Amino acid sequence: MRDEFLDPEQSDGEEAIEVGLRPRRLAEFVGQAELREHLDVMLEAARRRGQAVDHLLFAGPPGLGKTTLAGIVAAEVGVHLHVTSGPALERAGDLAAILTKLDESDVLFIDEIHRLSRAVEEILYPAMEDFQLDIVVGKGPAASSIRLTLPRFTLVGATTRTGMITGPLRDRFGLVARLDYYDHEELELIVARAAGILGVPIVQEGAWEIARRSRGTPRIANRLLRRVQDFAEVRGTGRIDLATAKAGLTVFGVDELGLDKVDRAILRSICQQFGGGPVGLSTLAISVGEQPETVEDVYEPFLIQQGLIARTPRGRVAMPAAWAHIGLAMPQPTGEPSPRLFDA
Ligand code: ADP
Repeated sequence: MRDEFLDPEQSDGEEAIEVGLRPRRLAEFVGQAELREHLDVMLEAARRRGQAVDHLLFAGPPGLGKTTLAGIVAAEVGVHLHVTSGPALERAGDLAAILTKLDESDVLFIDEIHRLSRAVEEILYPAMEDFQLDIVVGKGPAASSIRLTLPRFTLVGATTRTGMITGPLRDRFGLVARLDYYDHEELELIVARAAGILGVPIVQEGAWEIARRSRGTPRIANRLLRRVQDFAEVRGTGRIDLATAKAGLTVFGVDELGLDKVDRAILRSICQQFGGGPVGLSTLAISVGEQPETVEDVYEPFLIQQGLIARTPRGRVAMPAAWAHIGLAMPQPTGEPSPRLFDA
């Protein structure tokens, strides 16, 4: 289990910087206006009643602020944040060990909650609903069950796949929220704030250029800012203006739309290798050398949102914008004469 509010000096490199850039208060959290409003009301109500905040489920692609929000809930209530993840909780005992360490109103954050095993999920239900934990001691006929009362805690679950959360688990959350991609203005604020924390001089056009190419994702905005910072220090004056931002992003392979090498490999694979699709997810993943889950959770949502590819029941297909983006002419549907024949 990680303690989220690690001293940034104590963990290494990039991860430490990411922790340092994380907003700690709801007022510092940019964007997601509707969700922020809901949380503001829920936190205030819980504070007034002196009770734990109701369980929260955050869904959405990686890097949009789910972990950050869990930290904010804990900080706003003034309690500890305990961080774990679905795959880390292999056996019921792993979850029991964490639950029994919680204090009153503490926040337990479970990342990738859709990957909890059935056995762990079963003991989570009574813990969430009645704050009871049933522990089986011993084996075989001598086994007996002990019931423990837990402090009232807040479970914050995060998932990249709402579809994979079982109905009974989903129903036990008091708020289920979907985080959306951020718009360019919001990302510009995030970049400017991060630049302030990192002490990088940046002009508004530079922040805008980074924001515009961040695939709607704060984690990517912060990462690109750090790469452009490196570039500005090594090849420039250290200050990020429009020209430096453009040149730095180009050096690191981020194109005009914010797509990186893997995004472009996906588009090229669908268009060139598979004639525009449809192509199945696993075939596509093999052709670009990534795991199917990574393609599905990390890359595809943004490509779909941008209208570059579409998911169909028979597989992934390239949209006209994808062909245009990689600079290829879209093949004409078979059976119809190509207009080029007549142009010639
Ligand atoms: P997730 O848990 O959804 O993968 P995180 O909460 O880890 O995403 O966010 C990734 C990084 O992006 C954080 O380190 C934080 O600096 C930044 N971030 C995310 N959301 C925001 C936001 N709304 N405002 C400012 N920074 C944000």
